[in-house]
Amino acid sequence: MSDTIFGKILRGEIPCHRVYEDDLVLAFLDIFPLSKGHTLVIPKRAVATLDQLDDDSAAALGRVLPRIARAVLAASGARNFNVLQNNGEGAHQAVHHVHFHIIPKFDDGRGLGIKWQPGKLDNAEGATLAAAIAGRLA
Ligand code: AMP
Repeated sequence: MSDTIFGKILRGEIPCHRVYEDDLVLAFLDIFPLSKGHTLVIPKRAVATLDQLDDDSAAALGRVLPRIARAVLAASGARNFNVLQNNGEGAHQAVHHVHFHIIPKFDDGRGLGIKWQPGKLDNAEGATLAAAIAGRLA
């Protein structure tokens, strides 16, 4: 994949406000925060979207996300938060290096705004779709 701004951060070519680092993961403050404490958690492995990520990097991210979230909550004073993870430009991904947003949500509304437009799952379609997905996971 082509180089991204996060690749430059990982190589130390541009600065960041780092909050956590291990062999496989880096976390730093978002430069355009939606709310105080908005943090990005990225794998050091440079792939564009989550579905391309190797199991070791995925496990490393999963292991530290709750711990980083607890620290973000404690430092920001927020009680609630969203984890956002965009994949592809059509899904609002601007930086094509996998990243998780941890976004504190404050009582005054600061944080992530969500427009949620649910449908209704048809029972027969659900059974077919679940089988199709499960079949690809077998
Ligand atoms: P996304 O839309 O999910 O790709 O989000 C990319 C995020 O990266 C945005 O929230 C940006 O504010 C953030 N961002 C871009 N450049 C930097 C940077 N140099 N340091 C920290 N965060 C950045």
